[in-house]
Amino acid sequence: MRKLRIILLGPPGVGKGTQANFLSERYRIPKISTGDILRQEIQKGTPLGNVVKNILGQGKLVSDEVVISIIENRLKEKDCENGFILDGFPRTLAQAASLEKITEVDFVVSLVVQKRELTQRLEGRRTCKKCQRMYHVVFEPSKRPNICDVCGGELFWRKDDHPETIEKRLIEYQRLTEPLLKYYSRKKNLLEVNGIGKIVEVSGRISSQLEGV
Ligand code: AMP
Repeated sequence: MRKLRIILLGPPGVGKGTQANFLSERYRIPKISTGDILRQEIQKGTPLGNVVKNILGQGKLVSDEVVISIIENRLKEKDCENGFILDGFPRTLAQAASLEKITEVDFVVSLVVQKRELTQRLEGRRTCKKCQRMYHVVFEPSKRPNICDVCGGELFWRKDDHPETIEKRLIEYQRLTEPLLKYYSRKKNLLEVNGIGKIVEVSGRISSQLEGV
């Protein structure tokens, strides 16, 4: 079987997590989100969780060293044999360079949405404490207020989705992550996808590009 090793790139709020879930189901490959892994560590109160808690709350990036080691270990697991989707990694040129030493990548999917829409999406976002599924207070509310439709977990407003932190995250993105677009376009495996529209429309665009339809 052909391997499908995918990086999903794009600013916070562009829909990486949602589309990574779709790709994971469609191609039966694991979604690996460094943000989810870090949030789980924080929730469990592990030493790593305690170190990164404030950094996430401030909308800053965790050190390259920490996330690279998370990814290096995760990619060794058996379920990554046929491929994987990286959601939220790499986020700096140093992370991209390290990733290159660990694995090859088949596609880099860059999701594109204008900044005003991103802010609106992020502010209204609510996340399940238990399964990490995301909702939006206006565009995709849960059936019961603050309760996850899927697992019954409690929904919360991530500190980094509060307005004062969103701006910082977008600035961090521009400064540190946007240069990756140029980096990957030089390697010629960059696919640009319009991230505006319904979730299924965006998913359709991504899979058409991946399958070369
Ligand atoms: P996300 O859920 O992808 O938006 O990530 C939430 C937060 O986790 C980010 O704002 C960072 O603080 C941290 N984080 C996740 N992935 C990375 C990464 N690749 N490099 C540095 N920090 C990260």
